[in-house]
Amino acid sequence: MAPRQEPSFRESVDLMFNRAAALMDLPPGLEEKIRVCNATYTVRFGVRLRGTIQTFTGYRSVHSEHMEPVKGGIRFSMGVNQDEVEALAALMTYKCSLVEAPFGGSKGGLRIDPRQYDEHELELITRRFAYELIKRDLINPSQNVPAPDMGTSEREMAWIADQYARMHTTDINSRACVTGKPLNAGGIAGRVEATGRGVQYAAQEFFRHQEDKARAGLQGTLDGKRVIVQGLGNVGYHAAKFLSELDGAKVTGIIEHDGALFNPAGLDVEAVRNWIVSHGGVTGFPDAAHTAKGTAVLEEECDILIPAAMEGVITLENAHRINAKLIIEAANGPITAGADDILREKGVVIIPDMYANAGGVTVSYFEWVKNLSHIRFGRMQRRDEESRHQLIVSELERLDQKMGDAWSLTPAFKEKYLRGAGELELVRSGLDDTMRIAYQAMREVWLSRDDVPDLRTAAYLVSIDRVAASYRAKGL
Ligand code: GLU
Repeated sequence: MAPRQEPSFRESVDLMFNRAAALMDLPPGLEEKIRVCNATYTVRFGVRLRGTIQTFTGYRSVHSEHMEPVKGGIRFSMGVNQDEVEALAALMTYKCSLVEAPFGGSKGGLRIDPRQYDEHELELITRRFAYELIKRDLINPSQNVPAPDMGTSEREMAWIADQYARMHTTDINSRACVTGKPLNAGGIAGRVEATGRGVQYAAQEFFRHQEDKARAGLQGTLDGKRVIVQGLGNVGYHAAKFLSELDGAKVTGIIEHDGALFNPAGLDVEAVRNWIVSHGGVTGFPDAAHTAKGTAVLEEECDILIPAAMEGVITLENAHRINAKLIIEAANGPITAGADDILREKGVVIIPDMYANAGGVTVSYFEWVKNLSHIRFGRMQRRDEESRHQLIVSELERLDQKMGDAWSLTPAFKEKYLRGAGELELVRSGLDDTMRIAYQAMREVWLSRDDVPDLRTAAYLVSIDRVAASYRAKGL
């Protein structure tokens, strides 16, 4: 039964946790230990800007330290508050566990509207916030490693990494104190696209399984499937771009802060993104109908709905009007616990956030490993791999000459086969593998247990079980 009152974000996460925990055989003490947030640090600091001192409030919440460092993004938004940061930190614990990234869960946030400040002011504010966290080891390569989230990007991560390096001049691993950095500041190829890419791999893996598709009333491949995306930020943009350009899906709706675009024939994601960059929103975009009340498009009929903006957008109020067969939660917590119940009763299949958007932290993990090993992935093997492939190709060509025109290697095959994997290819391969394996762990529980009604509960079961095992191994 759906709760009649909308729970807060953290209550929603707890309710979902409880539903899964009720199906497990955990000692009650351990269940409580895993659910609660270990600590939340609140900091208020002043920065002199435009002639006066402005005070900012920031948080870093650590949900679970069963593995260290703990990991999770830092968000810059006016919506940031303790409840939100704690919910997001809890989701990080479950997310890392599900995709086997060896981290505990954490999250940070700063209550700020970044659009109100210029770049130099933002740098001062970010460095000051970072300073407050670094001096308490709430940013540290072996204890707590932030990353980008809503309102932050590579740029802020580079400032944080530099701030840490200035405060730890002899720490050879200082770059591993934060992930999502630009490539020239210790970042990794493919991190910017990673969350969206992970959404694509999640969708591909779902579509590989006949029975799963049948549960959602879907069949066939992603080709031609109607997709509605909410939020064309970093995650939504990359997910929509890859699904439409590489899998043939048709993006029929795009919802943004100033309304939504809808075109049953399909939208050109790249063109919409360019329009948003130059006009600040979707309003005025040609080639599509524009609705000022963007959320109405959430309710349009489609095969796949991808909420990629923020938490709490599908609620008790609108859940029963949702007309999608499959929802892929690219954002964290877009469906409230009450809405989740309603959608499940309606038969909508939900690929849950802790899995669907785990591509970001997965590639963050690769970046952290890269920073600690001080070498780019592929640097040692690439040319060796290429020369071994060259051996085979030369041998085949020798045979080819003997056989005349009977068969020969196509130039396209040769080009592809001869190219050794560089960092980007390896990152994509590692991410694809991670997303496939995590999906299979989830679906096995979903399909094999009658008391597990959905993928979200299955995801919680898999991940809580691993966290519990890790606490038990510590003797707790
Ligand atoms: N902020 C992202 C998330 O919510 C990435 C976290 C990370 O890479 O540590 O998963």
